[in-house]
Amino acid sequence: MRILLTNDDGIRSPGLWSAARALQQVGQVCVVAPDRDQSGVGTAMTLLRVLRAHEAPSPVEGVVAYAVEGTPADCVVLATGSLFPEPFDLVVSGINHGANMGVDVFVSGTVGAALHGLWRGISSVAISVEAVGDGVRYETASRAARALAKALSAPSVPRPLLLNVNLPDLKPAQPIEVAITTVGPLAYAPTVQRGQDGRRTHYWISHKHNEEINAGAAEGTDIWAVRNQRISITPLQPHFSGNSSAPVFTALAGEIAAELTRD
Ligand code: MN
Repeated sequence: MRILLTNDDGIRSPGLWSAARALQQVGQVCVVAPDRDQSGVGTAMTLLRVLRAHEAPSPVEGVVAYAVEGTPADCVVLATGSLFPEPFDLVVSGINHGANMGVDVFVSGTVGAALHGLWRGISSVAISVEAVGDGVRYETASRAARALAKALSAPSVPRPLLLNVNLPDLKPAQPIEVAITTVGPLAYAPTVQRGQDGRRTHYWISHKHNEEINAGAAEGTDIWAVRNQRISITPLQPHFSGNSSAPVFTALAGEIAAELTRD
C-alpha cells in the first residue's frame, strides 16, 4: 500500500512524524508537507506564484519527505501530479494538533488536503487530536491511523472514501470507544480583536472553542463524541448541494428571471 502523508501544521510537526512511524508499518509512506504551519487554509491552492518543493530530512527510515512552500492542498496536488510517478492508495492528513470538528471542517487545512485526495479518487483520512493544555498525545491517534489504513485497504471497502477522524485527549489505559458521527455545529467561535500598532489599526481573528455550542452539540455529532471521550469518525460527503427542487428556489429563479427581463 502506498500512503501519501501530509498535514497542515508543517513538516516539523511531531504529529506528522508520529503518524509516519505508525503508517510505515503497514505501507510505503511518502511525506509531502508544508514547510510551515498552514492551519486554517482549508482547500486553498497556490495559483499566483511558483511553488518549490525541497527534499527534507526524514527521521523515519525508509520514508522520503518533501517540504513544500505552499498549502496542504498544494502538497497533495504536487505529490500526485509530479513528485511521485506511482499512484497512491491512501492519503492521510495529520495528525493535527487540535480537533477539526463541526462546520470548521471547511476551514481546516488538514481536512482540505484530504478533500484534494478524495477529488483525485484516492481514499483519504484527516486525523486530529484534541489539544488540552500544552501537551498533545499522538500515540493513540497514530495507532488509529494505522488501523484505518489497514481497514480501508480491504477489498470489500468501497473507494474513494473520506473520513474525518478526531480523538479526545485519551489518557493511557483509558477504554477506547469509537463513534461514527455527523458534522456538528460551528465548534470554534472566531472573535476579532482590534489593536493598534503605531498609528495603524490591526485586527486579529482568534479561533477559539465555543464552549457553549460545544456543550449543546447534539448526540451523534463529532463534537458530542469527542466531548464524551469517544474517537469520532465522520464520513464526509463533499457534494453538499442543497435541495434544488425545493419550491423556495424555483420561486427565486422565477423572480430573478422576471426582474432581469423587466430591466
Ligand atoms: Mn493544524
